[in-house]
Amino acid sequence: MSWVASLRGRGVDLVEGAELGSRTTYRVGGRARAAVEVGDEGELARLASALREIDEPVPLLVVGMGSNILVSDHGFDGLVVTLGRRNFARFEAGEDGLVTAGAALALPVLARRVSAAGLAGLAWGVGIPGTVGGAVRMNAGGHGSAIGEILERAFVADLAGGGGLVARGASELDLGYRRSAIGDSEVVVKAAFRLAAGDREELGRAIGEIVAWRREHQPGGQNAGSVFQNPPDRAAAKLIDEAGLKGFRWGSAQVSERHANFIQADPGGRADDVYALMQEVRAEISKRFGVELLLEVKLIGFSSVSSGEVA
Ligand SMILES: Cc1cc2nc3c(=O)[nH]c(=O)nc-3n(C[C@H](O)[C@H](O)[C@H](O)COP(=O)(O)OP(=O)(O)OC[C@H]3O[C@@H](n4cnc5c(N)ncnc54)[C@H](O)[C@@H]3O)c2cc1C
Repeated sequence: MSWVASLRGRGVDLVEGAELGSRTTYRVGGRARAAVEVGDEGELARLASALREIDEPVPLLVVGMGSNILVSDHGFDGLVVTLGRRNFARFEAGEDGLVTAGAALALPVLARRVSAAGLAGLAWGVGIPGTVGGAVRMNAGGHGSAIGEILERAFVADLAGGGGLVARGASELDLGYRRSAIGDSEVVVKAAFRLAAGDREELGRAIGEIVAWRREHQPGGQNAGSVFQNPPDRAAAKLIDEAGLKGFRWGSAQVSERHANFIQADPGGRADDVYALMQEVRAEISKRFGVELLLEVKLIGFSSVSSGEVA
């Protein structure tokens, strides 16, 4: 019996052949073998025990807004797990600046709400179109700040373990540049941030400036933000620009004219073109500058990925 049938037999409400690529900000790529939306912590624990009861290992992918992943045109041969917004997109702010937010809450929404409440430290998050969970896993950041600086603890359920919620302090998460120790079977369910008292008007102005800066410097359309990590003391965008690759096209994918570290996909385009363009850019930067760029975007379902290419 396939794992899909086994999980269904154990009461897991799956969608087979679920849309995946179209749910990412690249809006290219194939479907998932199956997907499940988990409504609350109890369902998460039940999913974990169903997964434990079946013999086969099931490849797992937790998806937030899909703003940092590229899904192959062949799709993902595993189970996609998402968190329902009803129970996982709430937030509460305590008197002492401790803000607890559900992992499915959009980071820009949280950034605006806490700033409007006079809490400082997360205004930069207004420009990052992901969820709280995705931001913790990626240690997302920008404008000189990152999640790790304000994260007090993350509440994580391991689907390969018991599925119970474990509070993990920021220091236990090995947060680094766009990385954390959170593994593929682990689901960030909520996170607690320590924010400082700030001036509402100043924070409002900062939000406005960040939004304006993003509009001016970053393209809209189908992309997943910065494709490559910045190498030590260098900016990937500058290297790509200096290599004359702005506007360079590969089939339905193009290096953005506005920001050289963004790759745009055409409407109806192919993930394989985006992937091939990433490899072309890496090869050119290696040849010209001797710098091996590492991906910031996570590749899903690409069989030919070598570890050096994965962030
Ligand atoms: C226009 C644009 C601008 C961007 N600018 C920035 C920027 O300035 N700085 C920056 O850091 N990033 C930036 N990004 C990338 C992206 O928005 C961030 O990485 C974001 O944190 C990803 O969140 P997500 O919910 O979309 O995660 P996804 O793309 O859905 O997933 C990313 C990774 O996180 C995992 N994940 C998602 N949710 C959970 C969860 N609840 N529990 C466990 N793991 C989870 C996934 O399995 C995957 O490994 C940008 C993207 C775009 C499109």
